[in-house]
Amino acid sequence: MRKPVIAGNWKMYKTAGEAAEFIGKLAPGVAKSDHCEVVVAPPFTALYAAAEAARGTRIAVAAQDVHWAKDGAHTGDVSTSMLLDAGCTHVIIGHSERRHDHGETDEQVNRKLKASLDAGLTPIVCVGETLEEREAAKTRDVLKRQFDGSFAGLTSPAFSRILVAYEPVWAIGTGRTATAEMAAESHRYLRELAAQQFGETVAAQLRILYGGSVKPENIGGLMAQEEIDGALVGGASLTVDSFLAIVNYPGAPRK
Ligand code: PEP
Repeated sequence: MRKPVIAGNWKMYKTAGEAAEFIGKLAPGVAKSDHCEVVVAPPFTALYAAAEAARGTRIAVAAQDVHWAKDGAHTGDVSTSMLLDAGCTHVIIGHSERRHDHGETDEQVNRKLKASLDAGLTPIVCVGETLEEREAAKTRDVLKRQFDGSFAGLTSPAFSRILVAYEPVWAIGTGRTATAEMAAESHRYLRELAAQQFGETVAAQLRILYGGSVKPENIGGLMAQEEIDGALVGGASLTVDSFLAIVNYPGAPRK
């Protein structure tokens, strides 16, 4: 049984005060949402305030990126120990906006991932193809390249602590959602790759989230797919009402 994870990626939105206020309003709505884990990923400057506001609630706090080094001359970067100090339990790694805006490579994703696992953080590792790659029928090749590069050198126990997010780049922030079947097909392939590399048992337990224009209107259909174990939500995670409607999606078992 894979417990779904619904994670909100706030990108470059919300101050510390806004983050704390959001969490204060979200907490009562998710108090009984035992069917899933709830995560929010504020920007670095709001992490501490968010984690303080989330203390004692069902909400976990994720960072949107991390550096692999313990410390050092890395202007603008933040280390795993700083994230732990701020109260994070999770970290998003390899988001397509990081890959696109900052030229992040699979090799860097791998280093960030290993540092995060060593520190005891739960990584949410993003993979996904661009529109050009999908149209050229390269989706599987891209997923395999990202999978092999991002998860190189991991043991099965280490891999079993990771959450994977399948985010087709063409569906992020565009209003175009992959159909539930399209998403499930890529999830199935990722699980196949996981089975080949880390064994059937670990693969069967791997939670793969879908990301790309998830909204209250489409989450029910996505979550109805056996292969989809949750969502990484950008735009629709920015207001309490829509994020709550996604967390408590139609068909979710409620107490
Ligand atoms: C994301 O930020 O990971 C994302 C999927 O964004 P959106 O839901 O806005 O497409």
